[in-house]
Amino acid sequence: DRQTARIDNIGPVDQLRDIKKVAVIGSGTMGGGIAMNFANRKIPVRIVDVSDEAIQRGMAVVRSNYERSVKKGKMTPEKLESVMALFQPTLGYEDLSDCDLIIEAVFENMALKKEIFEKLDGVAKPGAILATNTSTLDVDEIASATGRPEDVLGLHFFSPANIMRLLEVVRGKQTSDQVLATCMKLGKTIGKVAVVSGVCYGFIGNRMLEGYGREAGFLHLEGASVGQIDKAIFDFGFPMGPLTMSDLAGNDVGAKVRAECRQQGMLPDDPRYGVIGDKLTELNRFGQKTGAGFYRYEKGSRAPIPDSQVEALAEQEAARLNIERRDITDEEIVNRCLLPMINEGAMILEEGIAQRASDIDVVWVNGYGFPPYRGGPMFYADQIGLDKVHAQIVEYGERFGNEHGYWTPSNLLVDLAKSGRKFGDV
Ligand code: NAD
Repeated sequence: DRQTARIDNIGPVDQLRDIKKVAVIGSGTMGGGIAMNFANRKIPVRIVDVSDEAIQRGMAVVRSNYERSVKKGKMTPEKLESVMALFQPTLGYEDLSDCDLIIEAVFENMALKKEIFEKLDGVAKPGAILATNTSTLDVDEIASATGRPEDVLGLHFFSPANIMRLLEVVRGKQTSDQVLATCMKLGKTIGKVAVVSGVCYGFIGNRMLEGYGREAGFLHLEGASVGQIDKAIFDFGFPMGPLTMSDLAGNDVGAKVRAECRQQGMLPDDPRYGVIGDKLTELNRFGQKTGAGFYRYEKGSRAPIPDSQVEALAEQEAARLNIERRDITDEEIVNRCLLPMINEGAMILEEGIAQRASDIDVVWVNGYGFPPYRGGPMFYADQIGLDKVHAQIVEYGERFGNEHGYWTPSNLLVDLAKSGRKFGDV
């Protein structure tokens, strides 16, 4: 945690920028929660959206979040009103000219984001920091829409943004040292654990999540039930397994990301990939929000109930894809899900996307529920021994085939395993 605040490769920064007024563009799921972080620290925050209805919807969610705190006795009704008074909804970009920091949180669409950054370049005062909350898009390309890429970076909040402590601070190619240092400090001010990430698809956390989710899906096709997969991961120490998590986040969200990635040629040509999640989405089984996903849910309840229909779907898809089903041990479930995550972490370290292995661990413990007592994926791998981690990855490649490169160990892992060193030594 302490190392995380240290920024590598940074020159002397004499003075940080003052952040006294903030704006958030987009008052949807993320925008409202992001804005709450600032209002909670008495920093006034303007909220921009495309219509009165959109703003009203967004502000109603913010108010109901605070009302929940009042009901729990964590906030007085007077405090609620004084905090709400710090939100300044507007439809006009011209109102942003006095803001020190503007965070964009509109739909995940490059053309839209570039259009907004071009507009911001026209209205923001000199020295204002321009941030994007994108989960997947290239921060450098977004920055190129402005004439001041040194003032642009990613501030990647996690959902719900008013609660989750993790903040990935995404350092673009041209982000100035002063802007980066200001945002790392600001993260602390708003009570977040801020971690520097370089620019890549999914940054640190979501990039590592990919292999974890992929293998959970494959294990389901190969014969493990939804309940067995989630229980094995829960028993390892996560607060929930990957399929419960998918139901919580929305299977439709995952299906949409996969569809976009497929279109851009970013997904392997593998018919098993995300197939059950896609089928569930076609059946309107989006997860908790529609009362059914990988599990069933009683009305008004979040308790997952195993569903034989989903197991029948897995059997049917396995037969269609010629996958032989078998008994799978809990140990295999944990290894299959965690080793790709660790291997991707090694690549992230090797590429310099993360500054150090412990930053990756901080991301996973604070943003994804990795069991804190195991120290995070990289620390956990160091405890097992990287020679064993490497050997298991190679063995899976031999056993399951490695046509798509899923089980190709990273160069860094190969080197460390050979020399008997740890990720923590890098
Ligand atoms: P959302 O659909 O809930 O909200 C988007 C909001 O942006 C809507 O209120 C929409 O009216 C508004 N908007 C659209 N065009 C606009 C414009 N031109 N000007 C102003 N407002 C505009 O989306 P979301 O889930 O809040 O995601 C927002 C961003 O945050 C995306 O880039 C997403 O990838 C990222 N993100 C989402 C999550 C998540 O879990 N939902 C987590 C981290 C990051």
